[in-house]
Amino acid sequence: MEELAERYLGNALSAWGLDVEYDRAQGDTVYLPGPDGERTAVTDFVGGFGSLFFGHNHPELVAHAKALLDAGTPSHAQLSKRTEAQRVAAALDAIVRRELGATEPYEVVFANTGAEAVEAAMKHAELARVFRLNALAAEVAAHARDAEERARAGGVRLTPAAAQVAGPGGDVAALVAEAGRRNAEALGRAPEFFALDGGFHGKLVGSLQLTHNPTFRLPFQGLGARARFVPADRPEEALEYVGAEQPHLLDVVAEDGVVDVVRRPVPFVAAFVVEPIQGEGGIHELTPEQAKRIADVCRTLQCPLVVDEIQTGAGRTGAFFASAGIGLTGDYYTLAKSVGGGLAKTSMLLVRRSAYVKEFELLHSSTFAKDSFSCAITEKVLEMLERDDGAAYRQAAERGARLRAALEEVHAEFGDVVRGVRGRGLLLGFEFADQSASGSAVIRNYARGGFFGFAVSGFLLRKYRVRLMPTGSSPHTLRIQPSYAVDDAAIDRLAAGLREVCTVLRHQDALHLVHP
Ligand code: PMP
Repeated sequence: MEELAERYLGNALSAWGLDVEYDRAQGDTVYLPGPDGERTAVTDFVGGFGSLFFGHNHPELVAHAKALLDAGTPSHAQLSKRTEAQRVAAALDAIVRRELGATEPYEVVFANTGAEAVEAAMKHAELARVFRLNALAAEVAAHARDAEERARAGGVRLTPAAAQVAGPGGDVAALVAEAGRRNAEALGRAPEFFALDGGFHGKLVGSLQLTHNPTFRLPFQGLGARARFVPADRPEEALEYVGAEQPHLLDVVAEDGVVDVVRRPVPFVAAFVVEPIQGEGGIHELTPEQAKRIADVCRTLQCPLVVDEIQTGAGRTGAFFASAGIGLTGDYYTLAKSVGGGLAKTSMLLVRRSAYVKEFELLHSSTFAKDSFSCAITEKVLEMLERDDGAAYRQAAERGARLRAALEEVHAEFGDVVRGVRGRGLLLGFEFADQSASGSAVIRNYARGGFFGFAVSGFLLRKYRVRLMPTGSSPHTLRIQPSYAVDDAAIDRLAAGLREVCTVLRHQDALHLVHP
């Protein structure tokens, strides 16, 4: 059969020995079929890129899925009552209150993928901004009408500032006309978003603009929303930018026979979007101090803070929300990946009630969103996370600590070739030292081509039967995100494999990497 489905990607995978086909998966294990009917077990540390907190095909979730199908659950009964969705929203609200100390409810909008949830957040933020803008424009227009009426009645004078806008010999009518012209321009200013250097928020037309990696973003820059990136340790750059760029409306106000112009800032920042721990960017945690400074910037700009918990959320860091660990409180949260239990493709946008725009519900929808099957799976996932007083979160924290200790040991032994171990709970990154100046031409070329992590992953798969991948935008960092039940033997095998990779790098023994 000629391969027509992403043939070139397949060729690239084969170059690294990653073009294998798994035919079964259970927990943290994926199985490779062999010619004799035997299967080779591989431990999966990629964990569905973060979607498998409960591992592959968790028996309880599979049983639940089967029961839903057997019961003839009407999955696609759009625009009818969906009790499952309400129960999911209520459960999420309780978690937000407990972990993040929220004092008001969070409304929930359902979507299908992570990128769609981010785009729903972008659209919601823009709708809220447009409503604010419209209210401001209406107020300014009413003031202008009032000033004109008073002028018609006679006996008004312009302040010097107003006279300057009206132009030589200009009266109130001229002032209102000129202010209207300038205001139309200021109101037409395109909205902008802020995101962090290294951030990843998806690859659709809108969300891609918030994804820092230029390789992904630049070809499509002309398509979507406008975003600016600021460093996590200097989020105040956003304020400097807004200060320099701030457009104003000219508000013509008349009082006691005097007509003046007041400059009113136009809100042109739609939202600030951050991950509590950057996943694809190489596993970088925000510090509590950075989180606070970002929240301060949002308060100053009066724009919503969108916390993208698509990869970090649903238990992976030892709590439902990774934000909980750093005191980060968002106006919006996005969730996807593990909330679908590895079986459903689903995502959610949570919006604090006082920031919620109810009209959004008519403006964002999808055939597949909020389907009863996915909602019922998510409901089960939340129940499994929350029961026994959060035993699953504690287990994730304990397994994460065990995994981290093993990785730290390798780091301590091979400080010359390992740059560091980062992350929290079961979202860890293992970064090798940059190899782009390696003495070995092969290793150097891997590194310069951005394929170093894939080459190492191929080696580890072939020799150690562990499945790994680099993070999306940091090719020297392996993403390590197994399920909450990853066992010690698998962790030790991973550590042994990493030790061998480190030895290869120490001796610049590229041949060994290619032909173990
Ligand atoms: N946000 C974050 C933080 C992510 O890690 C990802 C996926 N890696 C996305 C958004 C996009 O999610 P999806 O791939 O489901 O579109």
